[in-house]
Amino acid sequence: MQIIKDIKEMQKLADNLRQQRKTIGFVPTMGFLHEGHLSLMRIARSKCDMLVVSIFVNPTQFGPNEDFNKYPRNFEQDEKLCQGENVDVIFYPTKEMMYSEPHLASVNVEKLSETMCGASRPGHFQGVTTVVTKLFNIVKPHLAVFGEKDYQQAVIIKQMAKDLNFDIEIQTGTIIREEDGLAMSSRNKYLSPKERENALVLSQSLQLAEKSVQAGNTDAKFIHSQIEETIQQAESASIDYIAIVDGETLQPVDDIRDNTLIALAVKIGKTRLIDNILIRKI
Ligand code: AMP
Repeated sequence: MQIIKDIKEMQKLADNLRQQRKTIGFVPTMGFLHEGHLSLMRIARSKCDMLVVSIFVNPTQFGPNEDFNKYPRNFEQDEKLCQGENVDVIFYPTKEMMYSEPHLASVNVEKLSETMCGASRPGHFQGVTTVVTKLFNIVKPHLAVFGEKDYQQAVIIKQMAKDLNFDIEIQTGTIIREEDGLAMSSRNKYLSPKERENALVLSQSLQLAEKSVQAGNTDAKFIHSQIEETIQQAESASIDYIAIVDGETLQPVDDIRDNTLIALAVKIGKTRLIDNILIRKI
């Protein structure tokens, strides 16, 4: 496994691989890897000759009062986990290299970036789409894999790839959860044992909502208030948003149907967590 920190070196390697007609699978991450990340690596590994994983905590997708500085990092552990998944290359650049001054260009996906997480984190998705574009131009993948844990992000990236004609297949992987249902996230590390318990309210309220929908309660307002009530019962939980939207357009729906996304952002103490469920076949 190679660790490449230099952009030009990564581009040269990608060019060589492409010349040898090798396909490149790519999983972009911010590190502090867990089973969620590894599941995406396995998808890319099974479909491509070469697997590249990037580890880069991207400053431009964090707001001024967010957790960029304290975001968990552990490169040694990440390296071991990547080795275990037969990763060929870890691309591990510095922020100085990624954003050499002056850095004036950016990529924005309108509308889809403005709702849900985009409304509570202004500029977040512009940071994401800009860094993903840069990573695509550096790693030159044939396939890139993103997690449905960040469902809105995956929708935005698919739209970006289509609109800007990236010659890259975008695939998604399902949400990987802890045994008790909590969606895996690098940010779970911030939770105290008590908060860790309270955090279960995200997945539990979504499971309840799904059951309720399957039982015939398809009115979005009703389900919204059911979720709200469940979350409010948990200590130290404050709701950022509950969205009941179309799974493609991310526009709110009144009546829950096949392919409706129910997505949540909830603060547990100081830690903002997200989770979602896609309603299927009702
Ligand atoms: P991050 O390191 O949090 O930026 O995540 C990198 C990639 O892993 C993104 O495509 C995420 O959606 C994905 N991811 C994070 N957590 C999970 C999870 N629990 N299950 C599946 N994919 C995940």
